[in-house]
Amino acid sequence: MTDTAPLTFAVTKNLAAKTAAQREEILANPGFGTNFTDHMVDICWSENGGWHRPRVQPYGPIPLDPAAAVLHYGQEIFEGIKAYRHADGSVHTFRPDRNAARLRNSARRLALPELPTEYFIQSLRELIAVDEAWVPSGADQSLYFRPFMFAKEAFLGVRPAKKVAYYVIASPAGAYFSGGVKPVRIWLSENYSRAGKGGTGAAKTGGNYASSLLPQSEAYAKGCDQVVFLDQDRNVEELGGMNVVFVFKDGRILTPQSDSILEGITRDSLLQLAEDRGLTVERGSITLGEWRQGVASGDIVEVFACGTAAVVTPIGALVSEEFEDEQPQGELALSLREELTDIQYGRREDKHGWLVRLDA
Ligand SMILES: *Cc1c(COP(=O)(O)O)cnc(C)c1O
Repeated sequence: MTDTAPLTFAVTKNLAAKTAAQREEILANPGFGTNFTDHMVDICWSENGGWHRPRVQPYGPIPLDPAAAVLHYGQEIFEGIKAYRHADGSVHTFRPDRNAARLRNSARRLALPELPTEYFIQSLRELIAVDEAWVPSGADQSLYFRPFMFAKEAFLGVRPAKKVAYYVIASPAGAYFSGGVKPVRIWLSENYSRAGKGGTGAAKTGGNYASSLLPQSEAYAKGCDQVVFLDQDRNVEELGGMNVVFVFKDGRILTPQSDSILEGITRDSLLQLAEDRGLTVERGSITLGEWRQGVASGDIVEVFACGTAAVVTPIGALVSEEFEDEQPQGELALSLREELTDIQYGRREDKHGWLVRLDA
């Protein structure tokens, strides 16, 4: 991306913004994904006009033609990235260039236009410029940005839309685990897959989540918290929205990587921190059989899941119709989690230059 001049956003303030007291009440107990800030950002795209009409406007319903392509053919992608408040009050986000690059990868796969990195980062800054007060300051709290892009052209023919919208909304997020990090029970999805070779597994697109909901309900019904998916060769892929990492007795760390797995930025960062500690990181494959055997033999000493929302979640049990394997619990997952969150919240030196300040 070269010389992308900054956009000039037209700002319309929300006259019905929450009062400071209402906002503080929400921030005292924000939950996840149910409360939203007072504003949202959007940028239009058209085949002839490119990216245009950048706006900051009051948070609210999006006018959409009933024939909008996204409602019929699911041409949609999204991102998830947080803003963290440091002790000195400043607001930072984490590796936004990576989310921007991933949004462009997702866009290519879904035949959507590619938003330049500069516009992506600017869209986060514009939202913080009006909604900075919504970044909470409590322990493990953050403001979760949800950038997303969809086909808004009113047309029922099947082809890439010629009119697209990009939005950013933001939602204050509380500590994911109230009362400490708890290992989760994982249900093995035998009847459903989330992605296939050449499919959209490596794109962050709503359709992948839509197809994970039924297996996820199955998991709940079986007393589990999350689903793990396998590929056609019974290699472990990932959970519905988190990557998986295996820790071996010899200090090796392995994470499944393939073109049907979403490349997590949390995973990449944790693995970098592990490498900094002298551990050996492998991106490859592991079959279900190898997983079970590794746990049985004691070669695998820890298994955890990771993603922006929960950061790191130790896996406590792998459950299927046929078996229930308790998973060994170690120290590494939580120690890497602490190191990463220390960097994100400005409590530890940011050696890799991952933080980007948003409020100045
Ligand atoms: C977003 C996502 C992840 C985690 O990615 P992060 O960048 O770490 O948040 C993992 N798997 C899927 C399917 C996802 O959509």
